[in-house]
Amino acid sequence: MSVSSKEELNQLPAAPSICFECMRDSEDDSLKLLRCTTCKNEFYCSVACQRKAWKQHKHNCSLLPIKELEYPEVLDATKAQEMASEVQRVADVLYKWELASQAKRDDKDFDPAEMNENEDILNLKLQPPYDQASYTRLPSGHQTHKYRTNIMLISRFLTIQFMTPSPSRTVEAIDAVQRSFADLAMPRGADYAQVWGPKIACRPGDLSPGEYALLASIWNIMTVDEWSVGSAEPGGERQFATVEEKAFAMRFVNLGLMYNALWDVE
Ligand SMILES: [Zn+2]
Ligand SMILES: [Zn+2]
Repeated sequence: MSVSSKEELNQLPAAPSICFECMRDSEDDSLKLLRCTTCKNEFYCSVACQRKAWKQHKHNCSLLPIKELEYPEVLDATKAQEMASEVQRVADVLYKWELASQAKRDDKDFDPAEMNENEDILNLKLQPPYDQASYTRLPSGHQTHKYRTNIMLISRFLTIQFMTPSPSRTVEAIDAVQRSFADLAMPRGADYAQVWGPKIACRPGDLSPGEYALLASIWNIMTVDEWSVGSAEPGGERQFATVEEKAFAMRFVNLGLMYNALWDVE
């Protein structure tokens, strides 16, 4: 697997031919679409369309300074271990939440918003410097902040750790994930952020609320290899030596399940 060259990383996201707001086809009209100057990942046929789209797009728009994209610094073994311990702590809380919801899921009257384990999510404080981010605006359609800010901070932290090179997480491995993000075609809809692989790999701590929300919902698909490796059956679930190991490997799956259960709760 080749590592992305700097030139590859610094290519701008490709322009489509359709305006993201009004769906006008620029090829039919031999029109040049305007690129969002901040994220460089959304395209409009006119300033009027860009203005109209901003109400939603502001939640999904994060800076892409294209000339400076580089992978984050490689962590030494000690720093990587410290970060992995913090991830383990978060993964344990997610796992405990998932076990509790699994036990109740067959109950027709079960409302995941009323689980006691949600308090652990609300009270989960990340260690510095991962506690620094705060978000006042969340993707539209989500009026209350009760679980969402913490879900987003967890999504952000897990993304940072996953995309930070270390002795156990090589640039080549990150490169592979970056490529799969770059190839990912998300359905174009009002609720989705556009994702751009190099940005997620190179600026994992600087994404928008919409991007972290999207990652929380799709990380389990992107990283499924992490936990299915070693399974006896193709596509089967891997056997884990310890509960902690399982919690760690399933962290993105459990985040995705929690996201689906709690994100839309009013
Ligand atoms: Zn338009
Ligand atoms: Zn933008």
